[in-house]
Amino acid sequence: MIIFKYADQLARYIEQQKKAGKVIGFVPTMGALHNGHIALIDQSKQNTGVTVCSIFVNPTQFNNPTDYQLYPNTIEKDIEKLEAAGCDILFLPAIAEMYPQGTANLEKYDLGYLETLLEGKFRPGHFQGVCQVMNRLLKMVNAHKLFMGQKDYQQCMVVSRLLQLMQCPTELITCPTLREADGLAMSSRNLRLTPDDRQKATTIYKCLTLIKQECNQGGSWPVIKNKATQLLTDAGFRIDYVELADANTLEPATAPNKGPQVALIAAFLHDVRLIDNMLM
Ligand code: AMP
Repeated sequence: MIIFKYADQLARYIEQQKKAGKVIGFVPTMGALHNGHIALIDQSKQNTGVTVCSIFVNPTQFNNPTDYQLYPNTIEKDIEKLEAAGCDILFLPAIAEMYPQGTANLEKYDLGYLETLLEGKFRPGHFQGVCQVMNRLLKMVNAHKLFMGQKDYQQCMVVSRLLQLMQCPTELITCPTLREADGLAMSSRNLRLTPDDRQKATTIYKCLTLIKQECNQGGSWPVIKNKATQLLTDAGFRIDYVELADANTLEPATAPNKGPQVALIAAFLHDVRLIDNMLM
């Protein structure tokens, strides 16, 4: 695996690979890699000729400074995992490489209602930060295919909107969520859970499974939502949201229906915020 720290060197290398007819796949991450990330690398390797992974903990997408400061850093293990997965290139830029003019007064993106509901509502500015870094990364890597996780459902919709706004030809491929044996969605933030909270964390998956089951049986959404909320509260979660939404638009739903729907949960265990979702 070749490690690049500078965008111009990365771009030169990728240009050569493209001239040699290679299809370029890109997996952007913030590191502290787990098997969910590696599944994206695997998808890219199966569908492209050169896989580029980036590791960059983007300061502009953290609405909570403590979350940024405590974000896990396991770079040596990350490099080992990427080598073992057969990743071709790691892009590991410093903050100054991504934001040479600093991070004050960055550009803004018109994300419409995506920015006012669910993650957009509870993490003000988060998706602007995601777009600021993704705009730069997409231009630097200039990949044919971009692999991202369904775990961050709304983020995939935001990035899809960004690709439109940028008129960027890169194709977004959304990959399924990888879970631990007990159902907990793999996440870098799981590393910050105490052993006790790690046990409790599986309640989110239990709730999503319950919601799916009861929605498919045509239950009443307020009743189902109440049950899930109670289960989470009893396990010690502080809830940001438990919602049912149209899977294509994320418009909130008030009842289960036959159209594609997704249930989404965001909740804290102590100061660790976990998110997950499930298609109904
Ligand atoms: P992150 O490092 O958390 O920014 O995530 C980098 C990419 O990995 C994003 O596209 C995530 O949606 C994806 N991802 C995170 N967790 C999982 C998971 N459990 N399964 C599949 N993809 C994931």
